[in-house]
Amino acid sequence: MTARLIDGKAVAAALRAQIAARVGALPFRPGLAVVLVGDDTASAVYVRSKDRAANAAGIAAHTIRLPAGTSEGALLTQIARLNADPAIDGILIQLPLPTHIRQRTVIEAVDPAKDVDGFHPLNAGKLAASEPGLVPCTPLGVMKLLDAAGTQLAGARALVLGRSAIVGRPMAALLLGANATITIAHSRTRDLAAECRRAEVLIAAVGKAEMVRGDWIAPGATVIDVGINRLDDNRLVGDVAFTEAVGVAGAITPVPGGVGPMTIACLLENTLTAALQRRYR
Ligand code: NDP
Repeated sequence: MTARLIDGKAVAAALRAQIAARVGALPFRPGLAVVLVGDDTASAVYVRSKDRAANAAGIAAHTIRLPAGTSEGALLTQIARLNADPAIDGILIQLPLPTHIRQRTVIEAVDPAKDVDGFHPLNAGKLAASEPGLVPCTPLGVMKLLDAAGTQLAGARALVLGRSAIVGRPMAALLLGANATITIAHSRTRDLAAECRRAEVLIAAVGKAEMVRGDWIAPGATVIDVGINRLDDNRLVGDVAFTEAVGVAGAITPVPGGVGPMTIACLLENTLTAALQRRYR
């Protein structure tokens, strides 16, 4: 069997076009502020692509670049300004922050109504309680890919590999909300391969290159690979050994070109959602 490829680039392009059309019909331009502290190269690349994607969708992107030595207090002052600015609907703090700044304190300083990353504890709590709120972009993007792939979630056995606050935990909450039966696996899970083999839907979000082997996958399973790992030869690979998995799975996302493009598209969707909720509530 050869798995069907779930084309994240195509699904993301369609979502971005739909968002651009909805933004174009608004009597105002939603605003997104992206705050970058320091000069981490990978972060700078992400921020540029978020800026480009937002502007292409008709969202006014404001990138705020602060020097690496910026104090936590100065960053909190900047966030308070953005919280109070009526032209700003979404605020994204690019992570990781320099080590002298407490990440949790900064995330909690963002107005939950503008928290387009969905990382604020209020939004995390709403998701855990099945209440509407802003949902982290990557798991939201995975749900859209599963929908595009026509994966039946109600009643399905789903395994989320990874339990981080930004991917694994919200992913499990969203799958539970879609009535899947959830297992969350992590570094202390006893027999990871056996847990994976039981899954009809397998979401890998570990950050370990090609850890999930082909013989860990149930024949016909839907496999979503969130991992992004750079090898010594500079190749990007996921958490799943793609060439092995593609012969076993029913459907699978490639890396790159799977979940990655969905994350940015969902950031735009969250910005539009935040704008509509703030302005028309
Ligand atoms: P974290 O490092 O925060 O979390 C990794 C999780 O994997 C932890 O729960 C950890 O378990 C678990 N884990 C680590 N090693 C093992 C192991 N050997 N066996 C079983 N479980 C293990 O990572 P993130 O959640 O932030 O990201 C995960 C991956 O997704 C990364 O590759 C990241 O680059 C990628 N990513 C991709 C995005 C995209 O847009 N496509 C967006 C965000 C992330 P424990 O809790 O026990 O330590």
